[in-house]
Amino acid sequence: MKLYNTLTRKIEKFKPLQQGKVGMYSCGPTVYSHPHIGNFRSFLVADLLKRFLEFKGIKVTHIMNITDVGHLVDDADEGADKLEEAAKKQKKDPLEIAKVYTDSFLQASKLLNIKPPDKYPKATEHIKEMIDMIKILIDKGYAYVVGNNVYYDVTKFANYGQLSGNTLDDLNAGARIEINEEKKHPQDFALWKHDPKHLQQWDSPWGKGFPGWHIECSAMSSKYLGAEFDIHTGGEDNIFPHHECEIAQSEAASGKKFVHYWLHTRFLLFDGEKMSKSKGNLYTIQELIEKGFKKNAIRYSLISSHYRQNYNFTFDGLKAAEQAIDKIQQCVIRLEDIRKTAKQGKISEQVQKLFSDCLAEFDNALSDDLNISKALAVCFDFIREANKSDMNSAEASALLDTISKIDSVLGVLEAADTEVPENIKELAEKRKAAKLNKDWKAADAVRAEILAQGWTVEDTPGGGYRVKRAGEV
Ligand SMILES: [Zn+2]
Repeated sequence: MKLYNTLTRKIEKFKPLQQGKVGMYSCGPTVYSHPHIGNFRSFLVADLLKRFLEFKGIKVTHIMNITDVGHLVDDADEGADKLEEAAKKQKKDPLEIAKVYTDSFLQASKLLNIKPPDKYPKATEHIKEMIDMIKILIDKGYAYVVGNNVYYDVTKFANYGQLSGNTLDDLNAGARIEINEEKKHPQDFALWKHDPKHLQQWDSPWGKGFPGWHIECSAMSSKYLGAEFDIHTGGEDNIFPHHECEIAQSEAASGKKFVHYWLHTRFLLFDGEKMSKSKGNLYTIQELIEKGFKKNAIRYSLISSHYRQNYNFTFDGLKAAEQAIDKIQQCVIRLEDIRKTAKQGKISEQVQKLFSDCLAEFDNALSDDLNISKALAVCFDFIREANKSDMNSAEASALLDTISKIDSVLGVLEAADTEVPENIKELAEKRKAAKLNKDWKAADAVRAEILAQGWTVEDTPGGGYRVKRAGEV
């Protein structure tokens, strides 16, 4: 498997630190507002990568943090804390704000069928770990204390700028921030901040205060994944300063190489435009669902283009995604029908080749720096062939199994709506009545009608039945 590594700016062969295992950290949401589709593109790329590694039999330990303190309005070191600002505006406690938007984020993640990470650590629950790391940085001479503030001294870390390609000189030339007299160098960033007006305060060796945003991810990743791990993901906006600062902190503290592969997702555009509050195009997942779009179509749309290209999100694109998923679902419906009604038999060589080639090519496509367009093309070629073939029950079952393996990575059939629509419920009742009248022909006709709409009905012991999505286990 090959991945593009932002750190080396090259496509590299992926080699985990431990064979068969991968440690992966993803920068999660800052919970001061509802996360929008742009945020979710990056989270979905992490989910796609994780699912694909699992498809290859690798055990992934995945951590995604929740930032509930310390992320300032300006990603650099200035401005108000995003959570504080939301709390003041809404006249609520910052933790209440954090809870509302964490719940919103978790709900949207579930709607999009994002596999939950092993842990969602919260910054406010890891203050001790951050203080411990800051102490080490001070002891090692990488950080200094001025009054009740602690800053990281960027001139002490020789590789500062390696990830983003910035140099301290360039950064100084482009700096637009007012000079902070306390800092030795304008690019030094805060590890611990003193601000008597800040709503969230903790005791520290440097007095009451709160942590900087960057130290959170260094402290939490090392706690759960160790000082050195395989993959770190985020949006392209995280590269600088956030990830640059994470490297500086973590490597200075541990003396080890922090992360081996850095994976960054490019921005999402909406109808060709940059997404922003003022343009009113920061849609949330919940808003798109309220507009009538299917959650699995949103998922499909957001994963369907390469992560290192900007993706232009449109409503037409969502409709096309619905049609693409429908093609897969129709194939599943047909195969389900064959599996249930066709005769048993052996799997022919031709069918064997069809699904083993499909799985190998799907694997090859995603192994090539997550080439999703190619992987989807492989998937639809397979669907076309599967629709053409005449087959027995065992073969249909093998092809269904192939689709479900592919979907363990794509996660779109899994995310189909499982709430049974009213008309399907009525049909199921009609079938039950026909069966009670021993009108088997009518019962079979209704069953076929239900299946044609993407649902199956199965009898349960005791004369009842269960309706589920075709293809659902
Ligand atoms: Zn982070």
